[in-house]
Amino acid sequence: MCGKVSREPPYGWVPGKENYRSIRTLFECALYKRYLRVTCWQCKYSVIMDAPGHWWRCEQKGLSDSIAAFVRRLHCSQCFKRSGIKVRQPKVGQTSEEPKGPLLPGPDHYTWKRIVNRQRS
Ligand SMILES: [Zn+2]
Repeated sequence: MCGKVSREPPYGWVPGKENYRSIRTLFECALYKRYLRVTCWQCKYSVIMDAPGHWWRCEQKGLSDSIAAFVRRLHCSQCFKRSGIKVRQPKVGQTSEEPKGPLLPGPDHYTWKRIVNRQRS
């Protein structure tokens, strides 16, 4: 690992972890185009969540977009199918890999720009 350190370190930059961003909200996932890999501790089933899409859904429903709150609402679909038990508290990591299948709808370009500007002011 001898990557050049850019002059402007990315948000939440951690030494030795280039390109790692400390992200706490789904909005930040949308901003930095990061997705969340959620892995069930029970059956190891792993799925990539469309975090930016879920951010917009939360925004519209007035729900908290904190990743912690979002993850609390999840349970493993595979465990539930198999045993009817809602296995919660999956392991969560960020990834730049896109989820399989269609993405959730996001805001239109104008709305997105307005929201980004609102965050900066
Ligand atoms: Zn599971």
